[in-house]
Amino acid sequence: MGDHFIFCDDLGPAKVIQVYEPKTGLQGVLVIDNIALGPALGGLRMGTGVTTRECFRLARSMSLKNAAAGLSHGGGKSIIKADPNCPPEQKEQLLRAMASALRDEKDYIFAPDMGTDEACMAIIKDETEHVTSLPRELGGIPLDEIGATAWGLRHATETALEFCRFHLEDSRVVIQGFGNVGLNLAKFLSKAGAIIVAAADIGGAILNHKGLNVPHLVELASQKKSVSEYPDGQKLDNTDLVDIESDIWIPAAQPDVITGDNVNRLKTKLVVPGANIAVTPEAEKILHAKGILCLPDFIANSGGVICAAMEYSGSCETTVFPVIEEKIKFNTNMVIEASRTKGILPRAAAEEIAIKRIRKAMTYKRWSIF
Ligand code: NAD
Repeated sequence: MGDHFIFCDDLGPAKVIQVYEPKTGLQGVLVIDNIALGPALGGLRMGTGVTTRECFRLARSMSLKNAAAGLSHGGGKSIIKADPNCPPEQKEQLLRAMASALRDEKDYIFAPDMGTDEACMAIIKDETEHVTSLPRELGGIPLDEIGATAWGLRHATETALEFCRFHLEDSRVVIQGFGNVGLNLAKFLSKAGAIIVAAADIGGAILNHKGLNVPHLVELASQKKSVSEYPDGQKLDNTDLVDIESDIWIPAAQPDVITGDNVNRLKTKLVVPGANIAVTPEAEKILHAKGILCLPDFIANSGGVICAAMEYSGSCETTVFPVIEEKIKFNTNMVIEASRTKGILPRAAAEEIAIKRIRKAMTYKRWSIF
């Protein structure tokens, strides 16, 4: 993928596979990070800017996320370097080429991520059995449609607020990214009484300190229009979102959105990452030092993978929300308690919990070094 990145430590990766198929133009990478807990579960990301380095980081993040959520799955991630909005026939060819190249790879289960969705998983299912998050028609639980990740984020937020000096009701929320995660979270939080003061997508941002009308924003998104077309608000560049004063700031778009360079511009009390690796380690340290609680992404946004794992193991749709709520409330509480008791970053506390589970599972493997 041009960046020739390779990385390993005592947890993984267990396997790295590069897939190249000149006829379709497929350039793909699969990173299976750690499989001590079971076959790796993690999304297939499609984008022109995706890199092997990002794939490694996301695969590790999935190992931690799946372990923390108590799933019997390791972590992995796959990427296809291509425009996800390419003509549908071309997209289907790329997906089929990737899935058929990995048809015999039993240590990885495909799931959706940025640039792929349930329909993509249905195409993959036609090539390999190792796939989850299928459309309802194929027995799947459409996690984006039901808002599984957002449901978990909502409960992570409520649990975190037990440690903060404000309530969800009337709190001011900024959401960066108005796709499956951001949009559903806006719905859940506004229903619980929060005020969405600003939202952004790739097309721009919109601000209204009195609050944005969420159904109107959802309507714009359903018409494939940018939230910046919302009429009653101040249009902003989406990079300006970080400067808006709020109680809760939610990155729900891309990696590395809050970095050492812009973290000091953030005027908020609680950061709840919907996106993976949205806040860099340096920025997390700065937030912690300032007393701003930043939840670890892999704890807060694990609702989607919990749903995907439940579908894979044959659970039905109605059982998913209570399980997500229970797991995420429990883990968020445990992580914040451990962080406060030990005086460490919430991420460090979360990693301790997840890595302890992975290391324990590794002791049962014949190649264990523990
Ligand atoms: P999506 O593709 O549906 O939505 C992404 C949104 O981000 C879109 O509104 C897009 O316009 C916006 N965006 C992209 N670049 C932006 C920028 N520079 N500034 C502002 N907005 C921008 O994706 P999604 O499924 O909502 O996922 C969002 C993030 O959450 C991703 O990082 C994904 O990996 C992560 N995540 C998703 C799930 C899930 O269940 N979908 C689960 C865990 C983590």
